[in-house]
Amino acid sequence: MEAVLDRVIANLSGASPVQRGGLPRNLIIMSHDFNPSVLASMDLESVKGLALEAGGRTSHTAILARSLGIPAVMEMTGFLAEVATGDPVLLDGDRGQLVLNPTSERLDSARIRLEECSLMAEPPAATAVPARTRDGVAVTLKANTELPMEVRMARRCAAEGIGLFRSELLFLRCPGRFPTMASQLETYSMLAREMHPYPVAIRTLDLGGDSNDLTTGVSNRQNPVMGLRGIRWSLVRQDLFATQIEAILRAGASGKVELVLPMIASVEEVREAKAVIARISEALAAAGDLPGIPVAIGAMIEVPAAVLALDGLAREVDFLCVGTNDLTQYLLAVDRGNPSVSHLFKPLHPAMLQSLQRIAAVAKECGKPVRICGEMCANPFFAVLLLGMGFTELSMNSTSIPTVRKIIKEISLASAADISAQALRFQTAGETAGFLLSEVGRLVTMDLAPYVREVVGAAASDRATPALEPPWTAAQESCSHRSARRS
Ligand code: PEP
Ligand code: MG
Repeated sequence: MEAVLDRVIANLSGASPVQRGGLPRNLIIMSHDFNPSVLASMDLESVKGLALEAGGRTSHTAILARSLGIPAVMEMTGFLAEVATGDPVLLDGDRGQLVLNPTSERLDSARIRLEECSLMAEPPAATAVPARTRDGVAVTLKANTELPMEVRMARRCAAEGIGLFRSELLFLRCPGRFPTMASQLETYSMLAREMHPYPVAIRTLDLGGDSNDLTTGVSNRQNPVMGLRGIRWSLVRQDLFATQIEAILRAGASGKVELVLPMIASVEEVREAKAVIARISEALAAAGDLPGIPVAIGAMIEVPAAVLALDGLAREVDFLCVGTNDLTQYLLAVDRGNPSVSHLFKPLHPAMLQSLQRIAAVAKECGKPVRICGEMCANPFFAVLLLGMGFTELSMNSTSIPTVRKIIKEISLASAADISAQALRFQTAGETAGFLLSEVGRLVTMDLAPYVREVVGAAASDRATPALEPPWTAAQESCSHRSARRS
């Protein structure tokens, strides 16, 4: 009945219909762009890959695909005109390659590589042992999740909690309708129970940017990422915000729950949100419904103003979550979902590194725990850089946790700190990338080749890949990255 209702509402409201089942097996979705809520609603058993002309590494569709373990390639400009439904294609998410109508030789070598990869895949640890550096410093590794079902993968990868639950998909799955307090409570409580004794950080609704305006009813068309989104929208729609807050507070009865406020740019926003939280807490307490353990409140630090005004903000909250995806976007004025500027999206830009260093220093000064929640920390090179700056809590897509745990065990905090201090002296992202590739590569034994491309991409000054040679040689296939070709 609910599915029928969703469908009717979606059709009446003009939302694209969602196909939940009956899909062909071994399906590779090829599209110009693809809404994450549609991906989340599909029969994921059938979806084997995703190739988009739009998007970007940190777009929510890419983040969701990564979390679900669906190979995906983004920014494949212009390939759609070359392909028809039913054509065989070869998609390599690790290398960012898409080959249309591959030859049988290429398919054979891909099959061999796939077998090798599955043989090499390390079984995730059964229990969550805190990762420790060579010099004994504990580093907490948590999972970012978007769908409730991802909690299983988080546990399998030995996440020590959910560092960021993006609650948007709960709302986006039924366009035009908001989930009730009871249905939200069910999800949040399940997460808290499943992750017990570790905490679950539920981020309040962060719609806007690359999500549609059917749900919020707000048109942010002119400039979506700077529009009425995140906490701004919640403070305008305080009725809906209050419903979400009530569900989060009540979920505290099922385990350790934290509440994270997105897109914070000022102390006023935090105070206003805290007033709503206090009002709901008092009402629950008066009714005898407030769980004993208080829910800690955190702020996403992802807007440049929050970095500059961090002293005041840190005093208002219990902990800080650094959203490196949005911080890079806003600091560099580069839309994270726009392929025409994706070459300018550089987490290694000196402004970004200085901001991160400032956040680590202010958090330490104020005695507030700080966690990195953006995609950046899932790459071992960046993880070392962040560790060296003093970030000892990293939250990432679950599947990256075993790799990051491995590199942390291989490196000492002292050497990571040395690398970070030197990295901060460079004037360009390219110099920092070259330095990171050679220094981190020198210190560890693990194979870092699969992560080089992202580091190089985080520094490229134009669309051409810069000639940064890693200190090892990696076999390269002849077909080009990003662009699709017939072979
Ligand atoms: C971020 O901005 O880095 C973040 C963690 O949140 P999101 O990717 O959902 O914007
Ligand atoms: Mg963000």
